[in-house]
Parts: sequence; structure tokens; C-alpha cells
Amino acid sequence: MPIATVNPATGETLTTFDEFDHKEIDSRLARARWAFLDHRKTTYAYRAERMRRAADLLDAERDSIAATMTTEMGKTLAAARAEAAKCAKAMRWYAEHAEELLADEHPSAADIEDSGGTAAFVRYRPLGPVLAVMPWNFPLWQVVRFAAPALMAGNTALLKHASNVPQTALYLEDLFRRAGFPEGCFQTLLVGSAAIEGILRDPRVVAATLTGSEPAGRSVAAIAGDEIKKTVLELGGSDPFVVMPSADVARAAEVAVTARVQNNGQSCIAAKRFIVHADIFEDFAARFTEGMKALRVGDPMEETTDVGPLASKQGRADLERLVDEAVASGATVLCGGERPRHLRAGWFYEPTVLADVTPEMLIHREETFGPVATLYRVDSLGAAIELANDVPFGLSSNAWTEDQEEQERFIRDVEAGGVYFNGMTASHPAMPFGGIKRSGYGRELAGHGIREFCNVTTVWYG
Ligand code: NDP
Repeated sequence: MPIATVNPATGETLTTFDEFDHKEIDSRLARARWAFLDHRKTTYAYRAERMRRAADLLDAERDSIAATMTTEMGKTLAAARAEAAKCAKAMRWYAEHAEELLADEHPSAADIEDSGGTAAFVRYRPLGPVLAVMPWNFPLWQVVRFAAPALMAGNTALLKHASNVPQTALYLEDLFRRAGFPEGCFQTLLVGSAAIEGILRDPRVVAATLTGSEPAGRSVAAIAGDEIKKTVLELGGSDPFVVMPSADVARAAEVAVTARVQNNGQSCIAAKRFIVHADIFEDFAARFTEGMKALRVGDPMEETTDVGPLASKQGRADLERLVDEAVASGATVLCGGERPRHLRAGWFYEPTVLADVTPEMLIHREETFGPVATLYRVDSLGAAIELANDVPFGLSSNAWTEDQEEQERFIRDVEAGGVYFNGMTASHPAMPFGGIKRSGYGRELAGHGIREFCNVTTVWYG
């Protein structure tokens, strides 16, 4: 995949970049290591001051970086601005909380005595340069939610961003440098995925985090496993959105539309499968389909646009393959199901709702990375949970019910890293984020996220 900015709304290639050669990669890895040796000794206050400065710069530059993101991957300008604001918030959150999240932990006096010691504590120390392999769908946020905690913990960061968002990747390096982080603390590597193995096997790189597809995750985890290096994986999702009779159906249908088409449908935590109790199925289906039909598909730079193009031609082809196979096998198209007729250039796709989906269809098990929803009718909560779990993924989940017993059962039985009631899944710096099953392992954000790339050190005195 060439490293290039290709506008998904037009298909036009705007800028291409040469990949770094071995010499350049080597000097950047050396810089990451040297920078770590100093950065790890800095105080939290020193790091926080720079992190807050990065947040201030990002706020001031929100409009221009939002336009870059929209140009590179097609999200609406409004969504891009919101993403930049969210990144600034996460930077400030970690600037504020890193020190307390990584404070020494003290076992009880009785346990220390039982261990035969006179004193003991646990200290969180940074690990070193961490490689971040990141996707294009939230080109700022995916990086910042790793980088803010990593830098605050005293690690240094090497970003291998998706090849279609090079300008956003370069902006991030520049942002952290201008914020005052010393040379080498945060670097972008303009390389394709073929270069990852060499970088990950290099002894100067101590760990890796990857957000993206299952094959990419499997490859990075296998190499890191071979090198005994820690990884965090945040892979795909096919989150269920369950609606039970006690729910506010009108509100659920309205939120369902946003939950499905956020980021033009290309979000790992987007609700993708809508599992609705028979008692309210017709009502929900009608409202949801109306909401999806009413969305305006078009130029993501226009303020009135709700849904822009998919980020790549391949992404649209993958989505079309899933929809076409389902329809050929008997799924019913309630709306969409094709490219919009009024948009000739670019990689657009109509917001689509499919009913009568069966387990044999590919779309039942695979992740739909675009504005396509599947709708299922069930007769009980048990059937809803069974269907919710009937995918290889386990990222997050949504359930609409006012019934406390149903809520407890959902928490107990759903196979996912998140359970969101009467709303949609959204990440927040204070809440851990990540999945189980094929959605990956490890957690980002909150205390869990910042501790992933720390050396949890036991200190004991005899
Ligand atoms: P990829 O997983 O291919 O890309 C994500 C990152 O991984 C990019 O930096 C990419 O680099 C890199 N990468 C790709 N292949 C490998 C590999 N074999 N080893 C190491 N790194 C690799 O995602 P795509 O853009 O191809 O999207 C495909 C599907 O992945 C989507 O349809 C969706 O289902 C899922 N996805 C999930 C995301 C999430 O948020 N969980 C985000 C993006 C995609 P390069 O760009 O140079 O290929």
C-alpha cells in the first residue's frame, strides 16, 4: 500500500510520501532509546506540563487538523473536530491523573510481615520505546489514547500509522515536539506494514500496541510473542444493540442510527447487529429504517452531511461483498443496499438496513465496516444474549432495558469488554476500553491502560 493521501470523496491522489529507508528507521529507533533513558527520569509534573501544552496546541489547531483528517479518510468535518477535542481532553486527563494512577502500592503490614520482610511496595516503572501500529478510522484518537498514557508513564513512542493517513501521522510527531517533549519521545515512522517485523524484532523496541484488523493483530502478536514482548491488541468488533420491551423505543431507534453510522460506519465499537424483542420489533424497525433513510450522504466537508464516503475503495468493496452475498441468500433490504446514485466519484455507500439475516450468511459473523446494519427479531432476553454472543468478536455491547434483572443478566452473560445500557458505547479517558475473544486483549484508557506498558516492580526490604 503506497503511503499517500487519497481523498475518499473524490478518489484523487493528493500527496505521496517515500517510505523511510533502513538507515532512517535505525536512527529513529536509536533516538527513541536515547530519549527514553532521559524521559524515564523526568517528573510527572514535567511530562504533564508538556502534555497540557500539546492539548492547548491541538485545541488551537482543531479546524486545520480536522480538515486534514477529513481529506485523508473521509469522516465528516464535524466528527473530525469532535475527535480533535476528545484527544485534547484525554491528554489533559492523563496529565492530571497519571501520577496518582501510577503511585506506589503498599501491601498490608500483615502481608509484609508474612513475607518475612520489614517493608515492601510496588512501583510502576516505564518499559521503553513502544511501537504503535494504528489504523486510519480515528487517525488522531487511536494514537492519542495510546500516546498520552505512554508518554506520561515515561515511555517513548514510535508510531507506524496506516498508510492512508500520513499527514495526520506527521502532524502528531510535530505536535508533541512543539509541546516540548524532547526529540525522540514521539516519532512517526513512514513505513509500510512489511517493515514492522524488523522494527518489532529490534531490541530497542520493547512492546507493541495495535489497533486494526484481525490479520494485522495476529501478525504483530506472533512476532512479539516470538520475541517475548508485551502486546495490547484492539481489533474488530461486531457489537450487539439489544432492545427489550421496557425500553424507550423511539429513543433507542434514534440512538441506534448514530451508533451505527458514526464515523461513516467505520468504528470498531459501532453497534452493528440490532437484536430486538418481538413485542416492539415492528415499531423499532420502522423508526430505525426511517432514521437511516433520512441521513444525508455526501461531501464530508459540508456541514450538512451526516455520512461521508468509506475510507478506501477496498473498504467499500468488502462491504458490498457482504451485503450482496446476504441479499443473494435471502436477506431483505429495508433501505439502502447500494451506492448512492447522486454521487459518481468517491467511495460512498447508502446507509443500509438488512432484515432476515441467517447464521449461514457471511454478514452474520463478519464485521461490517461501513453504514450497514443487520436487524434480528428475538422472543426473549436469553435468545438475545445467545445471538449477541454468536460472533467471534467481544468488544463492547449495548442493551436497552429498564428492567434491573435483565440488566444483571446481560452483565453476567454477554461476552464483551463493555456493557452499555440505554445508550451507545463511547470511549472516555476514565473508563477502560478493550475486548475479549477475537476483539483482542489488554485495555486502553483509565488506570488499566497506563499500566499496560509499565514494569510492575516489587520492592522488598529484609
Ligand atoms: P489493517 O488492520 O490492515 O490496518 C491497521 C494498521 O495495521 C495499519 O497501520 C496497517 O498498515 C497495519 N497492518 C496491516 N497489515 C498488517 C500486518 N500484516 N502486520 C502488521 N501491521 C499491519 O486495517 P484495514 O485498513 O485494512 O481495514 C480492514 C478491516 O480491519 C476493516 O474493514 C475493519 O474490519 C478492521 N479495522 C478495525 C479497526 C478498529 O478500530 N478496530 C480499525 C481499522 C480497521 P498499512 O496501512 O500500511 O497497511
